[in-house]
Amino acid sequence: MTSLSFSELGLRPELLTALESINYQLMTPIQAESLPGILSGKDLIAQGKTGSGKTAAFALGILQNIQPKNFRVQALVLCPTRELAEQVATEIRRLASAIENIKVLLLCGGVPFKPQAASLEYGAHIVVGTPGRIEDHLRRETLHLKHVQMLVLDEADRMLEMGFEESLNAIVEQTPSNRQTLLFSATFPEAIQSISSHILHSPQQVKVESVH
Ligand code: ADP
Ligand code: MG
Repeated sequence: MTSLSFSELGLRPELLTALESINYQLMTPIQAESLPGILSGKDLIAQGKTGSGKTAAFALGILQNIQPKNFRVQALVLCPTRELAEQVATEIRRLASAIENIKVLLLCGGVPFKPQAASLEYGAHIVVGTPGRIEDHLRRETLHLKHVQMLVLDEADRMLEMGFEESLNAIVEQTPSNRQTLLFSATFPEAIQSISSHILHSPQQVKVESVH
């Protein structure tokens, strides 16, 4: 049986400190199945119900490799809505709390563009946002994705349902082709399979039914 302890994954000590401080004692099934592959650099397609702990799975994968001294966008997380992006940013910040000086920037629509552009000028390590606003920043060249090593598509089925496919493709195109890509989705319609086949490279596939 797979171990459910976070301590055997080889995570940086600051992440174990953060996990302890928020009282995550054991991995959820989807974390246990996906984290070894994520940490070894593999692409991943993961299907799991709401509440299964997908955010921490990709957040730990991102944070394990973030270099705090490199003030460039090293990871990008795309979410369907502002609310979900906020939740993801909050979870990443909680898990990053013991690593010094990690900046997580939220880029969603419905708020003025200029302050976001100003924040980007100061630099950020991790950007979390919705496809429309991220695409705006790329078009206006206020955001650069040349240094992205990890791309996460969270709730990919919902992003496609909301008509974000073209935005997603435009965004992905601006990231390096040797990045690691993780795709999370509650369902697996044809459209997800098709987008996965050109965005992911030989992904590991993980499907978990139970929440705990
Ligand atoms: P999903 O994205 O799969 O719907 P979330 O990442 O939002 O799920 O996690 C659901 C809840 O489970 C959150 O409240 C989160 O804090 C909690 N959680 C995640 N991983 C663990 C863990 N290993 N131990 C305890 N609670 C956890
Ligand atoms: Mg989620």
